[in-house]
Amino acid sequence: MLGAADAFRFEEHLAECARCRLMTAEFAGVAAVLERYARPTPPGVGPVAERE
Ligand SMILES: [Zn+2]
Repeated sequence: MLGAADAFRFEEHLAECARCRLMTAEFAGVAAVLERYARPTPPGVGPVAERE
């Protein structure tokens, strides 16, 4: 687990490291997708409902 100082350094590192920024962005994207699928399907919406 990251301490406050480590988290701060990581953010500082992210600011100047495109590679880590990309990885973080990809991870955030995956997390958002997982969260979307973890959410219960609202009533009246089929499981294969299309999204615009
Ligand atoms: Zn890096």
